[in-house]
Amino acid sequence: MFYFSTRDTNKKFTFEEIILNGLAEDGGLYIPERTPNLKENDINELLSSDYETIAYEIIKQFTGETFKVDLLKEMIHDSYNSFRSDCVTPLRKIDDALSILELFHGPTLAFKDLAMQLLSRMIDEVLSRTRSKASIICATSGDTGGAAVTSFANKKNIKLFVLYPKGRISEVQRRFMSTVQADNVKVISIDGNFDDCQNIVKTLFNDRDFANNVRLTAVNSINWARIMIQIVYYFSALSQYKGYEKNINFIVPTGNFGDIFAGYIAKKMGLPIHKLVVATNINNILERCLKTGIYEVFDSIKTNSPSMDIQISSNFERLLFDLLNMNSTNVDKKMSELSTNGKFELSKFELDTFKNNFDAGSINQDETIKIIKDMYDKSHQIIDPHTAIAVGIHYKNRYKNSIVLSTAHAAKFPDTVEQAIGINPELPIMSEDIYKMQENIINLKSDVGEIKSYIKKNFRE
Ligand SMILES: *Cc1c(COP(=O)(O)O)cnc(C)c1O
Repeated sequence: MFYFSTRDTNKKFTFEEIILNGLAEDGGLYIPERTPNLKENDINELLSSDYETIAYEIIKQFTGETFKVDLLKEMIHDSYNSFRSDCVTPLRKIDDALSILELFHGPTLAFKDLAMQLLSRMIDEVLSRTRSKASIICATSGDTGGAAVTSFANKKNIKLFVLYPKGRISEVQRRFMSTVQADNVKVISIDGNFDDCQNIVKTLFNDRDFANNVRLTAVNSINWARIMIQIVYYFSALSQYKGYEKNINFIVPTGNFGDIFAGYIAKKMGLPIHKLVVATNINNILERCLKTGIYEVFDSIKTNSPSMDIQISSNFERLLFDLLNMNSTNVDKKMSELSTNGKFELSKFELDTFKNNFDAGSINQDETIKIIKDMYDKSHQIIDPHTAIAVGIHYKNRYKNSIVLSTAHAAKFPDTVEQAIGINPELPIMSEDIYKMQENIINLKSDVGEIKSYIKKNFRE
């Protein structure tokens, strides 16, 4: 299997190259040259298998010869062995029309653990073959940081630097990062806001000398390997669903369009999915695009579902590539239109193709609170605000068969949940320790020079 960039289909790359590069040099996103298509028999067999078997069968389609059979199986096992549920991502039935896929049983209680656990092992393995080291720098406003720190801790070929805005993330989120004791991980608080952190990361990536010097790698959802790993739980969901031949919609709390794009690939591989439903808060660039055909950037607004507070959904470029008939020149044109005019428009044909596979909805902050309360009153389930938004759209759009992806545990957003139901959701037992352990944080000014020299110095050690 080879890969190319959404903006240039002439150059081909191996899986090893794209997992280390993260983002293509032309600014595009890597995408497999073709999507593997599974036969009905193979799908039926997968749907009667356990999580690790499904993961192995799906992932090997995309990694080809990169990992030996036993090694890939072992990495998958090590990644999910410690999850707090035997089925890794259990499906919970709420009523005949609605089930919830719980993606929060990993170490930091959010779905990002699923991809990051395996991604870290794959990167470490690929690096060890060439005896090279790499550094990872990421900016976090919430769940990505914790998942990255926990996954990359003690991986011997990698130095991880996580930047977060000081005083602007919740205590749970901070402690999931700061209490991990590992020499290869540095948690850095920045005097500034999230945009400052993200701008620093962008500047460092654009500084080619520096980036090459410390072998900079990206692990946010633009990295194809994360999408690939997330395809697995769409199959796992249907393997737990009775009567899956019915037309099922997956409703996905969406920010960067990574998680839902994995569902789109699952559908292209042959999994019987009816619609993929984009669920957002009032930052609804994708819903507006689906309804009008115009993809237009507005300022992002702060809400009680912070993982969806985004302006641009980076992974939408991967879908755009399909909508534009895999014509990378046209993708390039649309993306430069976006950066000069802040918007682009889809043709009627492109929009129809989008609508054939997707639907969308959005929910405001007050509605989010009400949905958390209704769900608790009705079925004694405590859900987080992101999950609540997806549940709300299930009811609003009156779907008959829905699986909602629950992207985080309620205890990660205790203030909003308490506001809704008057209960402070408890952390699962294994996670409680984060309140007893010592925190390790380095504070730096929002200054590229200072951060650069800090990283250079620590990369060598
Ligand atoms: C990251 C995140 C999302 C958004 O996922 P994307 O892949 O960026 O669309 C949704 N909910 C929660 C809780 C998250 O942490």
